[in-house]
Amino acid sequence: MSGINRREWLALGLAAATLPVIPGAAEAAVLKYALNPVVIAPGVWTIYGLPEPITAKNGGAIANITIFDTSEGTVLIDAGPSHRYGEALKAKAVELTGKPVVRVYLTHYHTDHVLGATAFDSGTVSAGKTLTADLKTIGNDLTNAMYRVAGDWMRGTDVPQPGREVSEGVEAVGNRSFRLMPLAGHTSEDLCLYEESTGLLFPGDLVFLDRAATTPDAKIDTWRSSLERLKGIGHKLLVPGHGPVEPGARGIEQTQRWLDTIEAQIGDGFERGLDITELMAVPLPDWTNGIAVAKYEYARSVMHLMPGLEATRLPQTDRA
Ligand SMILES: [Zn+2]
Repeated sequence: MSGINRREWLALGLAAATLPVIPGAAEAAVLKYALNPVVIAPGVWTIYGLPEPITAKNGGAIANITIFDTSEGTVLIDAGPSHRYGEALKAKAVELTGKPVVRVYLTHYHTDHVLGATAFDSGTVSAGKTLTADLKTIGNDLTNAMYRVAGDWMRGTDVPQPGREVSEGVEAVGNRSFRLMPLAGHTSEDLCLYEESTGLLFPGDLVFLDRAATTPDAKIDTWRSSLERLKGIGHKLLVPGHGPVEPGARGIEQTQRWLDTIEAQIGDGFERGLDITELMAVPLPDWTNGIAVAKYEYARSVMHLMPGLEATRLPQTDRA
């Protein structure tokens, strides 16, 4: 972590050295998301997130965002980490398709996926019932946390209020047909989408590929059941929440293996009486070597999962 922090400070320092003395104007000029859409199917583009944690340098642009051209307008899957990102995404999407954005599907409440939604008409912003309710109750805390980490990238960002509620079923938009599946496990509601004309599967953050999964809100058993359901869909291409788009089930299997590995390792360390610092220092198995931010996310998962273990496995001395 110290390397990343030092780089961030250097980047900020260099940026500051080249700025004119009007800070507001200068920062606005410097902070610009570079959106590079990649064609993944005819009329469909993905903007890949960086395989990094959220930092003041990347402005939170770490999640994959997808743009669909349809005969009725542009459809987006997720909206990115800030209002500023949402504005840039809207411009890029309209430039690619020549059509206005008519729908924005939000997969789950994590800030790197949803905070760009305020750049769009709320009537186009579509989310499941639980996600919409969660944004009302915890959206403010999540957004404040994002301001603390990503700083000025967040200027003008507020909590999105989806104006369209979606549920299990199929929604047609022009020549595209989106099968919606509200699942859970990564968060309280993870909206998965399968687009029938392309065979593209969007599992949100239920699937991470070559990038370690995050667990701050995870219910791991529920997550496993959701992955089982995803395996049965028969997709052509899988677009994970983070990581490369590819055919096959490698993303689903790798996420499952990652969850099994960290759960077993943290449970085992807990049984051996290791404290949090000792547990974080336990090396991960070799198969995780190619997975971005594996050590970083494992350390966070120790903090996320330990309280649950303490609650369920420690003897309740106060009742002895
Ligand atoms: Zn997430």
